[in-house]
Parts: sequence; structure tokens; C-alpha cells
Amino acid sequence: MKQEKGTKRIIIAIDGPAASGKSTTARRVAQQLGYIYIDTGAMYRSVTLKVLQLGLLDHLRRSPESVSDVIKDISIRFEGDRVFLNDSDVTAEIRDNRVSREVSFISSLKHVRDRLREMQQEFGRQRGVVMDGRDIGTVVFPDAELKIFLVADSRERAKRRYAELIAKCPDGGELPDLDVLEDEIIKRDRADAEREHAPLTKHVDAFEIDTSDLTIDRQVDIVYNLALDLQKDCR
Ligand code: C5P
Repeated sequence: MKQEKGTKRIIIAIDGPAASGKSTTARRVAQQLGYIYIDTGAMYRSVTLKVLQLGLLDHLRRSPESVSDVIKDISIRFEGDRVFLNDSDVTAEIRDNRVSREVSFISSLKHVRDRLREMQQEFGRQRGVVMDGRDIGTVVFPDAELKIFLVADSRERAKRRYAELIAKCPDGGELPDLDVLEDEIIKRDRADAEREHAPLTKHVDAFEIDTSDLTIDRQVDIVYNLALDLQKDCR
């Protein structure tokens, strides 16, 4: 932990398309600064998992407002790297392909966004937080002292996702084709960027970093050093 005496704890918002390196960068920068890390994608995935568990997906497509019944009793909390949805550990389940396919639809619903935005703002109330997502710098914390927008070439992002899947099931299993993965990523980005509420977009003040040719260490270093400078400025 590098928190210097007298420095102010800031909010760091990291946005960008799928698999652009947000969560790895955010997690490590948070560790180095002694901040908490909030993965808001995991929150949208948790709501999506809940909808799937309740078998309500088709119903919501016809009647999107009824999602308010699903989210009114939802609680989401983080313990280190683990995500808990109403006290059950859903860390692995929220990464299922089924969830990835439907999450853009669920996250386009206004009731869902309103509820999760409230929770995210509450998580950030103490400051000293690194939060990653699609609308953190634009909507959740437009006053965040440091806003980062990570981008990377779609092929490179598909390769990273592929490597993650191999790491998760090293002895084979059903691995999707790289082209299929790339296609899914492009479709999800398009849905996230074209939706009506809080679309994926870069805040004018955000630093854009293209991670296509950067190592993780380098990405982390860039964001960490920007944060250190801003912490000093905010003293
Ligand atoms: O970050 P991750 O890929 O896990 O996010 C999953 C999905 O959650 C995104 O594709 C997007 O639809 C939604 N999301 C969002 N706003 C955020 C974070 C994620 O709409 N702040």
C-alpha cells in the first residue's frame, strides 16, 4: 500500500469496451494504492444471472418495466475477488457464456441502471476506489479525479478472452472459435454503445489508452502514475 500521509484519496473511473484490460488494470492499481476495487460489470452480470435463474428473460423482453420486481430485493457485495448475490457466491457463474450473451440486454434497462448506479455511488462514498465499467466516468462518477478510457483492437481482445477461457479449462472442454469470440465481443460493444441509457462512450476528460500493444505491467504503471500525480494535486 503506497498511500502517502497527507494525500487525498481519489476516485478512479476506468471505462472501455469488453476485454480491453479494464479489470486487470483496475484490480492491480487498486492493490498498489490500497484502494478498493469495484467491478461494475460483475454487478450487471449478477442481475442477469438472477433473471436467468428466475426464467424471466422472455417475459422481460415483452415487459421490460417488470424488471423492477427482480431488482428491488437484490443485494450485491464484494469480498476480495469474490462476488456475492444475496449472500450466495456467484463469482464463477456470472462468467458463463449464457450470462455474457444476455447481459447487454439486461444492462440496457433503465430500472436496472438506476438501481446499480445508486449502489455504485454508495460503494464510492468513502473515496479511495477504482471502479471499472462502461459509464463510470460519464454517469456514475462524472467528477472522478481520474478518468481512463481503455481501448484495444477487437482481434487482440478476442485473443485475450480466448487465453482466459483456456486458463479456466486447461484440458479442453468446448472452446469457441476465435472468430466467434471476436464477433460476440463486437456485437456486445455495439449494443453497449448504441443503447439509450448510459451508453459506452468516452468522457471528454478521460485519458484514452490503447492497450493493443501494451503489457499489463505497462498499463498498470501508466494508470498508477497518473493516480499518484493526481493524489498529490488533490492534497
Ligand atoms: O465488464 P464486463 O464485460 O463484465 O461487463 C458485462 C456487461 O455489463 C457489459 O457488456 C455491459 O453490457 C454491462 N455493463 C454496463 N455498465 C457498466 C459495466 C458493465 O452496462 N458500468
